[in-house]
Amino acid sequence: MQTKPWNFSAGPSMLPPSVLRQAQRELLDWNGQGASVMELSHRGAPFMELARGIESDLRTLLAIPDNYRVLFTAGGATTIQALLALNFAAPNQRADYVVSGHWSQTALKQARPYVNVQIAAQPAPFDRSPDPAEWTWSRDSAFVHYTANETIHGIAQREVPILPADAPPLIADASSSIASEPMAIERLGAIYAGAQKNLGPVGISVLIVRNDLLEREGQPRADIFRYALQAERDSMLNTPPTFNWYLLGLTVRWMLEQGGTRAFRERNERKAHTLYEVIDGSDGFYRNNVQPDSRSIMNVPFFLPSADLDALFVQESQRLGFIGLKGHKAIGGIRASIYNAMPQEGVDALAELMTDFKRRHG
Ligand code: PMP
Repeated sequence: MQTKPWNFSAGPSMLPPSVLRQAQRELLDWNGQGASVMELSHRGAPFMELARGIESDLRTLLAIPDNYRVLFTAGGATTIQALLALNFAAPNQRADYVVSGHWSQTALKQARPYVNVQIAAQPAPFDRSPDPAEWTWSRDSAFVHYTANETIHGIAQREVPILPADAPPLIADASSSIASEPMAIERLGAIYAGAQKNLGPVGISVLIVRNDLLEREGQPRADIFRYALQAERDSMLNTPPTFNWYLLGLTVRWMLEQGGTRAFRERNERKAHTLYEVIDGSDGFYRNNVQPDSRSIMNVPFFLPSADLDALFVQESQRLGFIGLKGHKAIGGIRASIYNAMPQEGVDALAELMTDFKRRHG
């Protein structure tokens, strides 16, 4: 049926093969330095130049406006979720959270010790991204936070909402959708993402933040948690994860060469459509519980008629060389993560498996 293992892991997830091959070629001697990039000082001229180039490429890829800083941080998206509150809210100031699934809940949990958390919207069950017109927030809040793509539930808010002029700054967790399509960053106070889906390897994250937010006093905290200071020091307050940064750079360059976010939107919509078409045309054998206009183009969760069939599907997929299709333990079922690095060919192979499996077990 297929010619190679296709990796549908949710994150860490597949990287573009050409990126891995380049890293392999350069592993022992990067940039003519006679050493690996991971063996060199982050403060040396070659790495500083690399880091500047990566930021510049990322700014081009995501069309980041000049009045935003780009930080490269360790600790993952979860650490950012806690530090948002410490940096951009006064002690116990109100902050409004849109809760559209598992990762919104995580974001809220990380902030709870530091701010007065209020829920701006929370559908039950999690089957859609709530309409921004129905979000509740206060003008006095530090910020409004939402999750652009719920990686486990496969729920997306693909358009960056435009809030009224008197609304607090909007902050987006775009961990599993950044660079998957054009995004109106200028509508946001900040946007962040762990790299391990679309941007490269785990171990580095990106925080893009508007200058005025960096001027906020925030809460008492150690210097290492001060985003304004990190910005001042080019994300090098301490030793950064240099190899991950380098791999992120290769991945960003690859996305630019592939045509950027517009090209990826087209490809990703087509890939997602391929899978949703099989699901919707399966007479209920495959089920996706998300309302059509909130369906993710990055993570496609689906369920078979029984947990036994879910397990059999996963088992069979593994035998055929598919990787990472087992759904997250929070909701079970199957999940196909189809980030930018996944080609249409891999998705077609999965669609073929689904069609064939239904023929045999439907
Ligand atoms: N937000 C979203 C949307 C995610 O998908 C994830 C991880 N899968 C996280 C936050 C947490 O990221 P990290 O593991 O980098 O802390």
